[in-house]
Amino acid sequence: MIAAERDARFREIRDKVEAEERLDLEDGLFLYEPNVSLQAIGELANWVRERKNGNVGYYNINTHLNPTNVCVYRCRFCAFRKDLRDENGYAMSDEQILHRGREATANGCTEMHIVGGLHHQRKYEWYRGIISLLKENFPQIHLKAWTAVEIDWFRFQTKKSFRWVLEDMREAGQGSMPGGGAEIFHPEVRDQLCEHKANTPSWIEIHKTAHEIGMKTNCTMLYGHVEKAYHRIDHLMRLRELQDKTGGFQVFIPLAFHPENTGLSDLKKPSGLMDLRTMAVSRLMLDNVQHIKAYWIMLGIETAQTALAYGADDLDGTVRHELIYHDAGAQTPEFLSVDEIRHLISEAGRDPVERDTTYHRVIRDPNDFTQWHSGASVDVSTSEVVAC
Ligand code: SF4
Repeated sequence: MIAAERDARFREIRDKVEAEERLDLEDGLFLYEPNVSLQAIGELANWVRERKNGNVGYYNINTHLNPTNVCVYRCRFCAFRKDLRDENGYAMSDEQILHRGREATANGCTEMHIVGGLHHQRKYEWYRGIISLLKENFPQIHLKAWTAVEIDWFRFQTKKSFRWVLEDMREAGQGSMPGGGAEIFHPEVRDQLCEHKANTPSWIEIHKTAHEIGMKTNCTMLYGHVEKAYHRIDHLMRLRELQDKTGGFQVFIPLAFHPENTGLSDLKKPSGLMDLRTMAVSRLMLDNVQHIKAYWIMLGIETAQTALAYGADDLDGTVRHELIYHDAGAQTPEFLSVDEIRHLISEAGRDPVERDTTYHRVIRDPNDFTQWHSGASVDVSTSEVVAC
């Protein structure tokens, strides 16, 4: 395509976006062509981001809990899993889990992000018990727990339905679901990465069921490995289709692949330019998802901060005890202080706002940082959200 044609095609897309018309597969593929200006795509994504979320940059104060790294599956991109008899395999005790809860409380965390392996010998009751143990002892902390892959495993263990598992976990204390396990939906890619674990129809059905019972979930895409632009756009469109039906996704998180210590270690990790393009294209394609997150653990701090001008409005959390991507070679720190994450957002020209897991504003006691409560939804009227 010559430059004049390319410019005309981009103007067409820009006109659609400005008219709030939905982009289609061809539009998305065009935006991934390397000679289409990343700067121009970024500006357009930023326009959408500001229209949806104003000048705010969200963050939360959270911690991770990976109860076990022992897993029956062997996803090629995973550096976290261990075999049952591996000397580095672990399964946390109740006391270790309670210790994490106490630490989270002392640090003012509003959320625990709980995901892990599918242990060969641990029964459903063990996983459920982790949720009820934490909820009973730390009732204020929101438990964002179990990817669709784990919910699928629990169905296999219990021989019940997805709905039964989700309702039972909710009764135990699960508040919402993270978006992991989506990887790339298209079978040409998924079958190369993780052919045995929850397949695409199951992932979609589990999130649909969660939304139907009133549980909010997040959604993700793991990019930068063996997939092509077509697979990424196809993935985004499948998410968009489900969101049209249920409206239950809160935020989309593009996850940059890290190859170190994985079965795909011969690949290079995606470049910063690819990260920013994927961020911007995601913002433009997912017109019905309110928030786009730049997960700094995987992107690196500098790219995540820059992404706040390429469609992202959220940096995730302060994070503690992240293992999954650090095992895959992530060079980012193990956590950020509140001052550091707020500074990153301010330096990017955005107003830092602390949110809880379900995107309500967090109000803290000025005399005791660890005391907090949730205020109004940040999405009611973004124009009224001011920096704290
Ligand atoms: S990605 Fe999850 S399911 Fe796959 S091997 Fe790793 S821990 Fe197991």
